Amino acid sequence: MRALFLLATVASTAAAQSYTTADPVVRQIWAEGMNNSQAYKLAQVLSDSIGPRLTGSPGIKNGNDWLVATYKRWGVDARNEQYGKWKGWRRGATHIDLMTPRVRTLEGTMLAWSAGTLGKDVTGATVILPEVADSTALVAWLPQAKGKFVLVSMPQPTCRPDDNWRQFGDSASFARMRAMRDSATAKWTARVAATGYSLGLGTGTLGKRLQAAGVAGVIAHRWSNGWGVDKVFDSRTDKVPSIDLSCEDYGLVYRLTENNQGPTLRVRADAQFLGDVPVFNTIATIKGSTKPDEYVMLSAHFDSWDAGSGTTDNGTGTITMLEALRILKKLYPNPKRTIVVGHWSGEEQGLNGSRAFAADHPEIVKGLQALFNQDNGTGRIINFAGSGFTTASGNLARWMANIPTEIARNITLSFPGAPAGGGSDNASFVCYGAPAFGLGATSWDYGTYTWHTNRDTFDKIVLDDLKNNATLTAMLVYLASEDPETLARDRRVFEQGPDVRRATGPGVGGPGSWPACTEPLRDYSQYRR
Ligand SMILES: [Zn+2]
Repeated sequence: MRALFLLATVASTAAAQSYTTADPVVRQIWAEGMNNSQAYKLAQVLSDSIGPRLTGSPGIKNGNDWLVATYKRWGVDARNEQYGKWKGWRRGATHIDLMTPRVRTLEGTMLAWSAGTLGKDVTGATVILPEVADSTALVAWLPQAKGKFVLVSMPQPTCRPDDNWRQFGDSASFARMRAMRDSATAKWTARVAATGYSLGLGTGTLGKRLQAAGVAGVIAHRWSNGWGVDKVFDSRTDKVPSIDLSCEDYGLVYRLTENNQGPTLRVRADAQFLGDVPVFNTIATIKGSTKPDEYVMLSAHFDSWDAGSGTTDNGTGTITMLEALRILKKLYPNPKRTIVVGHWSGEEQGLNGSRAFAADHPEIVKGLQALFNQDNGTGRIINFAGSGFTTASGNLARWMANIPTEIARNITLSFPGAPAGGGSDNASFVCYGAPAFGLGATSWDYGTYTWHTNRDTFDKIVLDDLKNNATLTAMLVYLASEDPETLARDRRVFEQGPDVRRATGPGVGGPGSWPACTEPLRDYSQYRR
């Protein structure tokens, strides 16, 4: 009941706002963010020139250095703070060609941390992972795979997305297709499970076992349920390549193999293992003038998967925070509280950078006034929740009342909300009971089209939404920093019952409870899938 009342109050307050609020700094932030935005330029450099930022790659180190240099150019203190080491790996070019029964250049790429082909072309026939009774049967079959490329994923019966079938298909044929897709998926899951190995997020322990048997390479496909999109993660093959092929090309090679039409592939993949390398969070700081031991944080992970450019996961979150800080440095250079930006590494392997930072900086966790994290794509912010902090929700409502209608009208506030369990880096702070909030964006089909896909590229940015988010974040940071009240940390008590929203996700202590903090991985050798 209370939540509904607050929501109604805030909504009517926001609707009563004029173009901007009376607060002169908020008005200036609006003008700077909307009329003098640097977001597009910054995003283009990050996305196109630096490119993807796999943890432990030279790409992310270039990116870390670029962030520091950019902040220094604006007169902001910034540093790269090492929190551990990781498997260093440099992606080179991948070329995959079908050579027989006809020639076609295939669309695909190596999985992250895969071995390459040591500067040579490798040519071989293909073979499909067989249905076996158990891992003994798999091992008995393995000699037949020697020197061949093994297809380990299910071919999609159709690479047309479901919504395309729903729109154009006869309802009975759509239903048949769906049934076929579902049963093929279930059968393939059982086929992989029967081997006793797993594909993990890419080619997993099965890839490693195939490598030991002397295969030429492992060919996988993880469709993202949309036109032309694959999710591309990692492999543990360190002697032979693990390759992701597009839906269409994987299906082609699979059918040629299944029908004994003699496909051979030629693969040239360049990859370099660089040993263990240090990994860093980039931290920027504007010191507080009257409450320097209290902190307002901007938070977005900087690392990415690397088949695209990591533009919406999480280049746009990165640019939101970077641009917000540029605006703040220009218009609010002497904040009351200390402003800190965290550009985290290692998020994709388990929030490792932010978890390490929170563990290494108890003074910041203790003095945290508020943290704002964004990590779900390029869309404008539409959800802002109290993260389960009951009294603090009142502060959030007051801040939102100062946000211009043009931004606030899109946002649903929910109080008190539920604590983040582990979806993104705000969870690394919430688990200590510190007030950290996620800014939730509208989807733009993030989950299907850009999240962890080969199509996560610069052109997907929606600039109006990105400007909106950077401007909003700058305003929220300003308002949180100026708030005469330090946020209270009293937390929502979860009741048992079917109608009570539970805190869920990794690191959650149990049903209806607050998430517990987990140890960050500070070394690749602790990383197992
Ligand atoms: Zn992300």
